[in-house]
Amino acid sequence: MSERVNEYPPVIGLEVHLQLATASKIFCGCANSFGASPNAQVCPVCLGFPGTLPVLNRQVLRFGIRVALGLNCRIQPRIVFHRKNYFYPDLPKNYQISQYDLPLGLGGFVQLKDRRIRIHRVHMEEDAGKLIHEEGEGGSLVDFNRTGVPLLEIVSEPDLTSPEEAYETLKTLKGILQYLEVSDCDMEKGSLRCDANVSLKTGGAMGTKVEIKNLNSFKGVSRSLSYEILRQGEVLDSGGKVLQETRLWDDVNERTLLMRSKEYAHDYRYFPEPDLVPFSVSENEIEAIRKDLPELPEARTRRFESGEKLPAADAKALTSVKANADYFEECLKAVPGTAKALANWILGDLSREVNERNLESVRDLSFPPGHLVELVKLIDSGRISGKMAKEVLVEALKSRQSPAAVVQARGLAQVTDLAVLKEAALLVVKEQPQAAADYQSGKEQALMFLVGQLMRRTKGAASPAVSQEILRELLKEVKG
Ligand code: ADP
Ligand code: ZN
Ligand code: MG
Repeated sequence: MSERVNEYPPVIGLEVHLQLATASKIFCGCANSFGASPNAQVCPVCLGFPGTLPVLNRQVLRFGIRVALGLNCRIQPRIVFHRKNYFYPDLPKNYQISQYDLPLGLGGFVQLKDRRIRIHRVHMEEDAGKLIHEEGEGGSLVDFNRTGVPLLEIVSEPDLTSPEEAYETLKTLKGILQYLEVSDCDMEKGSLRCDANVSLKTGGAMGTKVEIKNLNSFKGVSRSLSYEILRQGEVLDSGGKVLQETRLWDDVNERTLLMRSKEYAHDYRYFPEPDLVPFSVSENEIEAIRKDLPELPEARTRRFESGEKLPAADAKALTSVKANADYFEECLKAVPGTAKALANWILGDLSREVNERNLESVRDLSFPPGHLVELVKLIDSGRISGKMAKEVLVEALKSRQSPAAVVQARGLAQVTDLAVLKEAALLVVKEQPQAAADYQSGKEQALMFLVGQLMRRTKGAASPAVSQEILRELLKEVKG
């Protein structure tokens, strides 16, 4: 495959739809919430009754500007809604109010590790309803609750060169969108959707692009692109031509299937929406929204690197999921100076658990920041060793107890009672006179042997550092 990729370099562009978490829909007062019973959140406006008029929800505009600015776009001086005309049973007006040549934002970018991916545009539009195909109904049902739910469409330039880069771009983009707090960005709920466009270059010239739809995970996006790159390469190898078409990703069989070819491409007959006047947003309002932007992942990564002295990879991994970075900072406030240890726990043992349970972040574990703080304190104070801490964590996650409670219940605390340790050390020295003498005559190694013996006697509960200290002291006394 790598040969083919070199022969026909892939060109990829993404189109992302983001459902905005506003209280109400984009052009009417209906609630914008997920999971209501079918057709419970509808009104004459979103059902497209004749004589009704849309009114733009200000919060949609504000969220839109927030995202456009977060993606480094310029807010356009003149913003216009257009009607995108097509017939489909989930679209009661037979047109979707969207934006065309005068969108909200243009010319942004997303910064990857070593590349900048240009964002062509960000525009506002309304969502359509949902068809439900139920067995035995003898037809399809339609739910208009989603009709008029606010969407942002984010379109990249065809700057991506591989499925891996598309995956990284989506991860980075989702990270930014989560930080902006305008959507739950949940792909499973359809709050974040993605179409991918891909073509192959031949002899330096751009090829015909194919659009892939029905992608419901980032992995699906990169797998479908890999498949499509192979498929198009084979077409070209056999002397054929790649046709301009829309294909569906079949997640089960891992292949793309023809949905419609160019002849059947829609002609949307865009025209300006006569019921919504063109408008502009004042500089003041744009600047107010810009000032209100949160610290975004890139800046936070830099702060973790320079301020907390975290390695770049740790900082990047932590900030890529906002909830993990928030968790980290909450812990750090309670135990300053333990950044690296906290990062290790969050990115290591805790993240492993998150992945195994298919969760989103460490927030979803029954292990609040206070628990991690407790665990770190237990180690720092020498009450438990790092090795024991791992077991304590496993138990705490399983039993939903705090680490201190687990230590207490299991009697896991290291013996730090000096009197008890000293007594045990005396016995060890008595049992191992040769090693004791060896140490006293200058053989450092003998001390390690004695430490081992002491730890064995205390069943691993004595910390190595304390054991060593006590033995040194003791052998000095015996000698002197
Ligand atoms: P259309 O007019 O078909 O909607 P656009 O120019 O709006 O096409 O682009 C839609 C998406 O396709 C964008 O994400 C863009 O980056 C991508 N795209 C455009 N041309 C190509 C190409 N030759 N190969 C791959 N992707 C492309
Ligand atoms: Zn409505
Ligand atoms: Mg387009």
